[in-house]
Amino acid sequence: MKSPHPDIERVLIPTHEIQTRIAQLGKQITQDYKGESLVLVCVLKGAFLFMADLCRHIDLPVNTEFMAISSYGHATKSSGVVRILKDLNECIEDRNVLIVEDIVDTGLTLSYLVDLLATRHPRSLKVCTLCSKPQCHQREVKIDYCGFELPSEFAVGYGLDFKDFYRNLPFIGILKPIMYENDL
Ligand code: 5GP
Repeated sequence: MKSPHPDIERVLIPTHEIQTRIAQLGKQITQDYKGESLVLVCVLKGAFLFMADLCRHIDLPVNTEFMAISSYGHATKSSGVVRILKDLNECIEDRNVLIVEDIVDTGLTLSYLVDLLATRHPRSLKVCTLCSKPQCHQREVKIDYCGFELPSEFAVGYGLDFKDFYRNLPFIGILKPIMYENDL
């Protein structure tokens, strides 16, 4: 298949598959939380597109919250250092909280976030990630909803960046090695 972008070597997940899967996840979440309300916590920046599409498939009373966490800087490998750049605006005590992530790689970021939010005594705390790389997990993190399992390669698109670019690609793909070979 011809690459849809000059910097992309190959497409991993085309746009229509992303959208179909998100609709399924939204339906599942709607069923699982029937009769309840939900706080969706978007982990910025990577999950902003996923969150925007997912919340439109959830037919429940929903609050949207945003958190910014840094674990990567400008490289393609996890530093293991997690910093909160922006915290939640609202209290989540006694609320059903669903963390919305872009991708779980080592799991360090997510495990930090789950531990942190758990200290705030939510009624329930679950995780929904668009992508997971099971071969890269270093921490045991329970993922309640997962869109796609990816190979252990660096992916971009649909919110996933390289040096803060490519988030706006409507598909998920692999960059040509020449784009990042100086950073590896
Ligand atoms: P972890 O702590 O699980 O290793 O990394 C989580 C964060 O690293 C993700 O939220 C994402 O921002 C970034 N990340 C991990 N794998 C990838 C990848 O393949 N592509 C991109 N663009 N970011 C990734």
